[in-house]
Amino acid sequence: MPTLFSRTSETPTTSESSQPTPETWTPEGVTVAQRYLGLAGAVVLVYTTDSSWSGEYYAVACLGCTYITARHKDRPGSDFLTQQRAAELANIHAGTCRALRRPLPDRPDDATARDIIRRHLHNARRSVNDRPLLLSDLHPQRLVLQRTTSWIETELLAVADEHPDVLTAKPRAYGTGYEFTLHPFPRS
Ligand SMILES: [Zn+2]
Repeated sequence: MPTLFSRTSETPTTSESSQPTPETWTPEGVTVAQRYLGLAGAVVLVYTTDSSWSGEYYAVACLGCTYITARHKDRPGSDFLTQQRAAELANIHAGTCRALRRPLPDRPDDATARDIIRRHLHNARRSVNDRPLLLSDLHPQRLVLQRTTSWIETELLAVADEHPDVLTAKPRAYGTGYEFTLHPFPRS
């Protein structure tokens, strides 16, 4: 509402009211399905990503403490989270977490986002054998990455092009997109 002191040159995008809050925040590339409120005000998100090609898998992240999970710890083999299971975990966490809310993470620049992906690939190469790299493997990083699935896929293709010893890509046999295979560090 204009007052005697309001400056007309101010654009609404810089006003405080347009800043996202944990209750409204939807990072780029992410679909927030549910939000839970922790004991001291931290918000717990149940989210998935903007593409279905890696399946409808969910993750849970607390915006107050460091709790984040995309896996079903007691069910190896089929350990991806359905929305229902993710919501159960979020509800349990919100019922016990005493963290206050933290500032929301800023959207990183492209070079930083690229680093986050490459660091993930580096860590995932510690396995002994070739293994498929699924986009849902990056679920825990998506709140920090804040990039669309197609941006991430383009970045993975660039890695496969530059470093075929690290990652290879081939078009999916069914549907669209690519299948990525991650190769372990060479054994010396
Ligand atoms: Zn928490």
